[in-house]
Amino acid sequence: MSRCYLLLGTNIGDKKQNLLQARESITERIGVIAKPSGIYQTSAWGKEDQDDFLNQVLAVETSLNPERLLGTCLEIEKDLGRVRFEHWGERLIDIDILYYEDQVITSQRLTVPHPEIQHRRFTLVPLVEIAPDQKHPKMNQSNKDLLRICTDPLEVVKID
Ligand code: AMP
Repeated sequence: MSRCYLLLGTNIGDKKQNLLQARESITERIGVIAKPSGIYQTSAWGKEDQDDFLNQVLAVETSLNPERLLGTCLEIEKDLGRVRFEHWGERLIDIDILYYEDQVITSQRLTVPHPEIQHRRFTLVPLVEIAPDQKHPKMNQSNKDLLRICTDPLEVVKID
């Protein structure tokens, strides 16, 4: 089993329900959710005319390798979009792979750790809630330290 950290994001429709359905699909198709963060609300990053986002980070134990994990995340994004809101399709829920064990992966389809982790409070705040001392394998700093030096001004509020 390998531990991965996934970031969920949604800003359309019934957002809490979207997160719930994503967690159900992840449990069925990726693995056991070992630790969920709380749910956080953030203004739309760089696009202030959009609705606010809800974000949540999950620590998941999976037997999928990174490529299959990415494929399954994309399938879940697609399926939830198709089932719930054909119009908005894949944008209903976004699933990013933040970490996969302490692996560093750079392929055409996949970059791990996710290249934006250190730039976004909406990623770091929930990540620090569940894994404060875990080290970023490329930057060699803990999530807690990355949050401390992060200059992203957007407010992130825990709502659940
Ligand atoms: P986006 O819609 O911005 O989330 O981008 C999704 C695309 O980014 C996917 O089709 C992946 O091929 C690519 N990608 C690269 N690295 C990652 C990652 N760590 N997690 C999720 N998607 C990734």
